[in-house]
Amino acid sequence: MFATLSDRLTSTFRNLRTRGRLSEADIDATIREIRRALLDADVAVPVVRAFTGTVRERALSAEVSGALNPAQQVVKIVQEELVAILGGEQRPLRFAKRPPTVILLAGLQGAGKTTLAGKLGLHLRERGHTPLLVAADLQRPNAVTQLQVVGERAGVPVFAPHPGVQETAAGLVGTPGDPVGVAREGLAWAQERQHDVVIVDTAGRLGVDAEMMQQAADIRDAVDPDEILFVVDAMIGQDAVTTAQAFAEGVGFTGVVLAKLDGDTRGGAALSIASVTGSPVMFASTGEKLTDFEVFHPDRMASRILDMGDVLSLIEQAERAFDAEQAAKMAEKLVGGEDFTLDDFLVQVQGLRQMGSMKKMLGMLPGMAQMRDAIDSFDEREVDRIEAMVRSMTPAERANPKIINGSRRSRIARGSGTTVTDINQLLERFGQAQTMMRQVARGGGVPGMPGMPG
Ligand code: GDP
Repeated sequence: MFATLSDRLTSTFRNLRTRGRLSEADIDATIREIRRALLDADVAVPVVRAFTGTVRERALSAEVSGALNPAQQVVKIVQEELVAILGGEQRPLRFAKRPPTVILLAGLQGAGKTTLAGKLGLHLRERGHTPLLVAADLQRPNAVTQLQVVGERAGVPVFAPHPGVQETAAGLVGTPGDPVGVAREGLAWAQERQHDVVIVDTAGRLGVDAEMMQQAADIRDAVDPDEILFVVDAMIGQDAVTTAQAFAEGVGFTGVVLAKLDGDTRGGAALSIASVTGSPVMFASTGEKLTDFEVFHPDRMASRILDMGDVLSLIEQAERAFDAEQAAKMAEKLVGGEDFTLDDFLVQVQGLRQMGSMKKMLGMLPGMAQMRDAIDSFDEREVDRIEAMVRSMTPAERANPKIINGSRRSRIARGSGTTVTDINQLLERFGQAQTMMRQVARGGGVPGMPGMPG
């Protein structure tokens, strides 16, 4: 996700960091590099121009700050301006005063609307809402069936009175029917059954065309949406901006969803959309699974691009991945004076696997731009190996690893298809985790953190 842009910007700032006071020439050289990095990443030209202009002006007139050196100040200005082009503050969904809240999804065919309907449905359901998905994309072959599958997976009901166009062995069958009627009926259905949010999936075409735009506008007029989310495939490059402009004129939208942000294309065009259309990016879609979905925080994304890490997102993901019940149990145990065992350690390690992909997680840690190669070679099978090693231990060994002597180590290595060195490493890592957990349980804080007792 924006890996190249991130690499380019961080290396620009690395050069800057080695200098003391910045002259106007230093600033101009930096601005030139930033401009090139943004253009190479496909950020729209007018956005680049405005961005670099503002950064330059602010950098030249920056007040001397006690806390930051001049180079850090430039980084901070760039971060703030990146946040601004991404739409500023995180913009939450606006719910209708009188439910149901209607959310209309618009965008080109293949942008990821249907997938997003499921993701958003799940997201809302997890937050106590009772969403309904409405299948008003009757055009794309099998879109209705796809929405039904996605809805079932998300545990969200789907209103789909019309099967739409279907692809069969005999070719395409069925008609696009009346999507406006379906949308209207869907809304009435939701009102009757007290769904508090209605998500309407609409048809897209492969390219912008007047008929599709009109249909989306007709559906909009029929259901009077509280939010119109423009879903855009971040991988389509510069076309993303022209498409966004066409939708802004043809249908209008209140927010942007960047889909397929998991791809490693340049993606910069997607960064320009909020700025070009004046609508904030609200969500990001980062994969084919229903959980590959994030509320978009412009400040966190900017920090991620500048490789300042995204500790907040990391914490949120971790919270989601670790079973709250499990965590509470563990805390209780530790506070109650019981020790942290290898079984507990295994639960923690397994939690890492659930944390989306490990790579994504590592990508959010600060200072990772230079470690991207290492991350790419990171092997999630490591978790499997740890699991195998712990499973090859007896309950007594897991509860009290101190008894694991040389011969036990060889036995465990044989049992788990690993080596004694692997076992030694595991026990060493466990020992570190145990020390840390003991300290946390005593309320002593995390070791190794400056300024913290313990
Ligand atoms: P629609 O035509 O706008 O409804 O698009 P779909 O939801 O059917 O998505 C088109 C294709 O893109 C499907 O194969 C999806 O599985 C895939 N897709 C959707 N969202 C994402 C995403 O965030 N990342 C990736 N890698 N693929 C996605």
